Formats: sequence, structure tokens, C-alpha cells
Amino acid sequence: MKSSEVLDLLKRRFPNEPEYHQAVEEVVESIEDVYNEHPEFEKANLIERLVIPDKIHSFRVTWIDDKGNVQTNMGYRVQHNNAIGPYKGGIRFHASVSPSILKFLAFEQTFKNALTTLPMGGAKGGSDFSPRGKSDGEVMRFCQAFVEGLWRVIGPNTDVPAGDIGVGGREVGYMFGKYKKLAEEFTGTFTGKGREFGGSLIRPEATGYGNVYFLLEMLKTRNIDIKGKKCLVSGSGNVAQYTCEKLLELGAIPVTLSDSDGYIHDPDGITKEKLEFVMELKNLYRGRIREYAEEYGCKYVPGARPWAEKGDIALPSATQNEIDQTDAETLVKNGVIAVSEGANMPSTPEAIAVFQSNKILYAPGKAANAGGVSVSGLEMTQNSERYSWSAEQVDEKLRWIMANIHENCVKYGKEGDGYVNYVKGANIAGFMKVAKAMMGQGIL
Ligand code: NDP
Repeated sequence: MKSSEVLDLLKRRFPNEPEYHQAVEEVVESIEDVYNEHPEFEKANLIERLVIPDKIHSFRVTWIDDKGNVQTNMGYRVQHNNAIGPYKGGIRFHASVSPSILKFLAFEQTFKNALTTLPMGGAKGGSDFSPRGKSDGEVMRFCQAFVEGLWRVIGPNTDVPAGDIGVGGREVGYMFGKYKKLAEEFTGTFTGKGREFGGSLIRPEATGYGNVYFLLEMLKTRNIDIKGKKCLVSGSGNVAQYTCEKLLELGAIPVTLSDSDGYIHDPDGITKEKLEFVMELKNLYRGRIREYAEEYGCKYVPGARPWAEKGDIALPSATQNEIDQTDAETLVKNGVIAVSEGANMPSTPEAIAVFQSNKILYAPGKAANAGGVSVSGLEMTQNSERYSWSAEQVDEKLRWIMANIHENCVKYGKEGDGYVNYVKGANIAGFMKVAKAMMGQGIL
């Protein structure tokens, strides 16, 4: 297998899907040597079967807005690979959602899920519906209409969706309710559910907490204490909020947050009380991060991301390709020691190259943000058992899983000079598990 040939094939067969090509390119480049050590993989044309999704469902979603107008959006579910378990991955509602974005996310999810040690395949779904500015009733009607298009292809042993950008507890609740009614069953077909109907404790916190647990493991390799470190966090949604919460608990100092309109810089640090304000602002009132600056009198920069500010650690937690080469160079120039990705693919390939050539501790999303899907996996286990574990039990398992993923990254990613290439480590560890499972199940 030559990674360039795989890429050429994908570009010919699926043109105009840059995010999908970008995600595949990163993986095939880093597994090329390992793949070529296994001629049986090539004989089974494993690589093509691994990079092309098993199935892609697309459907029109029709709903009625508050003014009585009939609206349409597109809905999708990309079921990428189920070699190691039922398809599993979030649902994203954002105006930018396209087949390319969902294919990149489903592809990444397959490797991420393999890394967690839990039996979950990879999938992703979503819609170009934007919840921004929509009433609660509109969001509910949209979620119900979306599930009408989706419900026949999901199920507790088939495909278990969860949240992502624009999809939190409220949306998962509406989707779960509609699924329950259509399928006439009460099963754990969605994760990230409300606590009262099967949701796991620590699921809302899991991605942010997990990212910080992974960061701690990386810092440990260089005997660096997180206490007192200034942290640049982007986003202000689920992942960013719980990243800040865990950083504060450990004595680190988050100084930035952002949304799609701009970022705030609070040099005094985002305290627990200020974080509570953000949670209320974003989760209850669905306001803008600009309002933080108005409340606390700090700097707000519209139309920009926080990477030009000085910080020791960067935790991008908003969206894909939010750190480019120039941002990465600025971060390095300003002395950043670690970058741990809460978002999926937030750094461009050029930015990753800057981090790695400067030997910065750099963790890709598929390793560092795997805590979310891990606790989703634990929610599936609890639902199957019709039982629920305490917050301490779930948190302990989450910590163990993140430490284990870190260990695997080091095992496969340590280079001659001792530097750990976490991208390579995560890709090889995830790939080997999925590849062996596919080989064991014959040509499908
Ligand atoms: P939320 O919708 O809760 O928050 C997303 C945040 O990112 C918001 O502040 C949003 O701003 C901002 N944002 C979204 N799109 C853009 C954009 N195009 N440009 C700038 N800012 C943007 O989502 P999550 O916190 O759940 O997800 C954040 C990231 O983490 C995503 O990459 C997601 O795939 C990843 N992730 C999430 C997991 C989870 O468990 N939730 C699990 C693993 C990864 P605004 O309010 O203006 O839209």
C-alpha cells in the first residue's frame, strides 16, 4: 500500500470532500510502515475497506417553524465501521455540516473507539440545521423530524448515536423520546441521555475531564506540574466548560474561551464563579461569549481565535481546523509546552508539523477527547445491565481509560530520541485493533 495511491483513489471517487481526505491522509501516512509489514492486509485490500464507510444514509428533514413556515434540512448518518462493535458516534447540528465533515468524523471515530478498549464501531451523523436562535419548540420539532428519518437504521445493537456540536442533553432527550415512541422500545439507543432516563453520571463532563486526564499523563512524562499553568481554551460549549472545570480543580488557570463570533481573554483567570456564569449563559440563555467580557470587564476580540494570547497549554475545544500554521507558530513562539485537543481535528496538518518539529507535547483529538465516547460506552453497559454506577465509579474508569490510551500512544509512538509522536501512536494502536477484527471476520 502506498498512502499516496489511497489518497488519489479517494479524491477521484469522492471529490470535493477536503475534511474527509485530510483525516484519511493523516492516518494512512502514519500506518503505512506497519501496514506494509503485513502482506495479508494488502491481499485482503484492507485499506480500501477501512477508509470507505460501510454505509451512508441521507434523508430530507421537514419541520415547521414557530411562524408556521415549512422548513427543510438534510439529515445524514455515516456508519463507518462496525468490526469491533455496534456503530457509535455523535450527532452534529451545525450549518456547516456536510457529507465530507461527517465522513471525516466517522472515520476518526472508528480509531478513537478502538483506542478506548470498549466494543464500539465508528459512526457520525448530523444535519445542516443550526439551533442558533431557534426556540425550544422548534428544536424539539426538528429533533423529532430528524429521528423520523434515522430511526430505522439505529438501535441498541446496531448503532447508538450521542451528542456533538449543537447537540447536548436537551436534543438527545428529544431524539431519544421520539425513537422510543417509533421503535416501541425503551433501550439505550442514545447516550448522553438525562440522568432520569438512563444517562450515565459524568457523561456531560467526560470529554473535558478526559482531555485534562490525558494532558496530565503527557505532563508526567516531563515531570511538569499543571498547577499555576495558564491555559488557552477555545469554544465555550460542553467540552470547553468541563475542561475549565477540571483545570480549575487541579489549580491551573484557564484564561480564554471563545464561540463562533470571537474570544474573551481574562488574564486574572476564569474562576469557578465565572465558569458558572458561562454555563448559565451558554446552556440556559444560549447567549454569546461577548457577554462574559461585558460582565467581567475583560478583553473581547470579535472574529478571532485565542491563539495569539500567551499561555503554557492550549486546549482547542471548538471545531475542526481552528489552529493553522501561523497560529501554531505563534503558540510555540509564546512558549506553549503542550497542546491537547478536546475538539476533533482542530489543528491543520501544517500546525501539527509545527508542534511536532518543536517537540511540543501534542495530543490529537482521537486520543485526547476519547473520554466522551468512553463514558458513552459505559452508559451502554449500564443500560444493558439496567443499573447505574456512582459518579466516583465512572470517573475512576474514565481515568483508567485515558491513562491506558496514553500508554498505548507511547508504546506505538515513541521515537528514537524519546519524543512521543502521539498522532502515530494513536493511529497505529487504533488501526491494529480494527484491522485484526476485520481480518478475523472475512471479506465483507
Ligand atoms: P458545543 O456545541 O457544546 O460547543 C461548541 C463550541 O464551539 C461553541 O462554543 C461554538 O460556538 C464553537 N464553535 C462551533 N463551531 C464553530 C466554528 N465553526 N467556529 C468557531 N467556533 C465554533 O459542542 P461540543 O463542546 O460538544 O464540541 C466541541 C468539539 O469537541 C467538537 O469538535 C466536537 O466534535 C468535539 N467532541 C465533542 C464530544 C462531546 O462529548 N460533546 C466528544 C468528542 C469530541 P457557537 O456557540 O457560536 O456555535
